[in-house]
Parts: sequence; C-alpha cells; structure tokens
Amino acid sequence: MPDQFTFTDPTTRYRTDGFPEQSQDAPGLAQDLAPRADHGETSYRGTGRLTGRKALVTGADSGIGRAAAIAFAREGADVVLNYLPSEQSDAEQVAALIEEAGRKAVLAPSDIAEESAARALVHTAVDELGGLDIVANVAGRQTYVDDLADVTSEQFDRTFKTNVYALFWIVQEALPHLPAGATIINTSSIQAYQPSPGLVDYATTKAAINTMSKALAQQLAPKGIRVNVVAPGPFWTPLQASGGQPTEALPEFGQETPLGRAGQPAELGPAYVFLASPESSYVSGETLNVNGGMPTP
Ligand code: NAD
Ligand code: MG
Repeated sequence: MPDQFTFTDPTTRYRTDGFPEQSQDAPGLAQDLAPRADHGETSYRGTGRLTGRKALVTGADSGIGRAAAIAFAREGADVVLNYLPSEQSDAEQVAALIEEAGRKAVLAPSDIAEESAARALVHTAVDELGGLDIVANVAGRQTYVDDLADVTSEQFDRTFKTNVYALFWIVQEALPHLPAGATIINTSSIQAYQPSPGLVDYATTKAAINTMSKALAQQLAPKGIRVNVVAPGPFWTPLQASGGQPTEALPEFGQETPLGRAGQPAELGPAYVFLASPESSYVSGETLNVNGGMPTP
C-alpha cells in the first residue's frame, strides 16, 4: 500500500465494491472482518508532527481509533490504548505496531460507559505517560434497530453513556492535567446531520457530540486548549459488521457517497493528526468531515 502522500485517484484508492454480508457479536474484532480493513499498518508515514506528545485514544484497538493510534505513534507520540476487555487481541496488535515505531504503548482496557472506569482511565494515562496533551475520544457504540418500539431503555442508555457521558467524564477528569497547547478530538458522524431511520439513539448522540464540542471549544480556548471533531462517513470497521448496520446493507455499504466507495480507517489517521498537531493552532470548535464527499451543513 502506498503511503498517504502518494498521488492517487480517490475513487479507486481502496475497494470500490461493497462488503460481504457478515455478522459478529458487538463490539466485534478487526481481525475477524472480511475483508480486513486498512488502518495504515503498512502505509502511514510519520514526519515528526507529534514528537514527544502524550496521547489517550479510546476505541484504539480497531477501526478509526486504531488508525489514529498508529498515526499518532508514527508521528512521535506515546499512546494509551483504551478498549473493551473482549478486544484484547486486537489491542495487542496495535500496541506491537506502536512499539515498532519506537514509542510507548500502554494497554488500558476498561468499560468507559462506567463513570468510575472512565475517570480512572485518565489517571492511568497521566501516570503512565507522565502527563497528557492529546485526548482522542473515538470509542462509540452503534446498534441498528428498525422500529423505535424495539429500542430498549438499556440500549438507549448504553449508547448515550458510551458516546456522550464517557466523553464528558474523560474531558472533565483530564482538564486539570492538560497544558496549553493540548488538544481534544471527538468523533462525531455524518449521522449527526443525515440520520438513518434505524439509528435514532446513535445519531442523536453524534449531534450531541458536535454541539458539546463547540461549547467546550469556546470555554477552553482561553486556556490554550483546542477542541475539534472528526465526523466520518461510512468506514469499514467492526462497528458496522457487529450490529451497526443490518447485515443485508453491507453489500451496498459506502456506495452512496460521491466518491462511490466506503472509506478505510487509514484515511482518517491524517485528520486526527492534523487536529492534534500544532499546525492546526488556529482551528478550534471545527468539525472535519471525512465522508467521501457527502455535503454537510
Ligand atoms: P470500531 O468498532 O472499530 O471502534 C469502536 C470502539 O469503541 C471499539 O473498538 C471499542 O473498543 C470501543 N467501545 C465501545 N464501547 C465501549 C465502552 N463501553 N468502553 C470502552 N470502549 C468502548 O468502529 P469504528 O467505526 O472505528 O468506531 C469508532 C468511532 O467512529 C465511533 O465513535 C463511531 O461512532 C465513529 N464513526 C464510525 C463510522 C463508520 O462508518 N465506521 C462513521 C461515523 C462515525
Ligand atoms: Mg474494537
């Protein structure tokens, strides 16, 4: 796979077909996706943009979080990887890549939908890295349900706890440790503006993340802390193959975008790096849409 600087046609850079029907129990594993996703393992080329930085990445075992974690490490950051305990084998693969890049990788499995665990994660990061200056909230939960009548309170609650409350808990706990220059990067979705009928709870959390980030960005700007958002379109990750989409939608997944294909997580690493690095020093409260060309507000 050529590196991210290689001039290519974006319509054919990656698989143009949809994906075979398949299903895993949530949260799913990257190693069981067929075909496997590209997280930049063989292609992301660092240029020292995050030298010496200290990053916490949630959902770092697979998908978009894995791509961000690999990119951060290749740019020179040490990384704490959070994920659910069932994803240990995926996370170990990411840790090995970070260590190959000559950086420190800290495995920190925990369920951040639990307040005490979310808060404790921040302390693990600060202790293990000797500080913290990048917080990338990538973990998320998406469960497709056709009919609102079948959305349980438990699902609604867990989606909000994972996607919205955990972000609040982690940011609140991290703030006393973040120096001027630190950056917070949250993960929204095209679903914030173009909600699917079967993703009522999920889409609502993503709109909440956009709004929370815009409010926080203003509050934290005087401290020199920037807050931005990455809003992906359809990306090939375990989330989509473990209940995020109906399995029968996978053959068409990503085909609706102007670029005509699903994104691969590797195409998001540079977005997280840009927002984490001082080169985006005058960018705060922004949402960077990486979605194959779908119009956004
Ligand atoms: P993914 O399954 O690879 O990553 C999601 C991760 O969230 C999991 O790996 C898991 O570690 C973590 N997670 C879920 N619940 C958790 C909990 N309670 N505690 C700790 N970790 C938990 O899928 P992905 O698509 O890379 O998702 C990453 C983010 O991107 C999510 O916020 C998702 O909403 C967002 N997103 C994805 C797409 C897409 O098409 N894949 C599109 C828009 C937004
Ligand atoms: Mg995972």
